Amino acid sequence: MSRIIVITGTDTGVGKTVLTALLAGHLRAAGVSVAALKPISSGKRTDAHLLRRAMGNALTLDEINPWHFDLPIAPLLAARHRGERAELRDVLAHIWKIAHRFDTVLVEGAGGLLSPLGEGFSTRELIVELSADVFIAAKNQLGVVNHVRLTLEALPPLIGGRARVVLMSPARDGAVGRTNHGLLAEFIGEPRLSKLKWFRRAEDLETNLRAPQTHAALASLLRPLEA
Ligand SMILES: [Mg+2]
Repeated sequence: MSRIIVITGTDTGVGKTVLTALLAGHLRAAGVSVAALKPISSGKRTDAHLLRRAMGNALTLDEINPWHFDLPIAPLLAARHRGERAELRDVLAHIWKIAHRFDTVLVEGAGGLLSPLGEGFSTRELIVELSADVFIAAKNQLGVVNHVRLTLEALPPLIGGRARVVLMSPARDGAVGRTNHGLLAEFIGEPRLSKLKWFRRAEDLETNLRAPQTHAALASLLRPLEA
């Protein structure tokens, strides 16, 4: 049985791809066979390209991202524009097929937890159907406590209660960035919280992976919670 982790976020553009790529690079360096998927995307395919790089080109772009729609709007609408539809059962079948070949499969959603991915489903339905572990990327800025709590509330209690939250932080934290961790910990507990440095350029992936604090944060994130 391979481990499936779904990476969702409090919004679009909060660091899901960076988190997924760091996890893939970290696991690969530890000798774990890992696939990183972005099953559905619209607009440019930059996320799928970065994930491919992070897993050492172990999959083709179309295996990583089978449902791709050119229009840079919500995937559901971009698909409709082309007269196509992404079905939940097909997306699940693709993920399970990949899961036969790898120890760990990372699945990046699109947008936030409830952003529509295809007809009748969002990342939340993927999570539930896959019985996946959930990592929530959150932008470490003012308002993040609200965004994280809303996202957790939208998950079934048993899943939300075990979801991990990663504060994706700019290179230099302001006062808000430095205090968010403590405030959020009051609501969800310290063990479920991690903090990682955000980067923008694909070339920064390897630099970030070499930082000891990145390794420590990723290792603790991947460790199961105490029962
Ligand atoms: Mg992304």
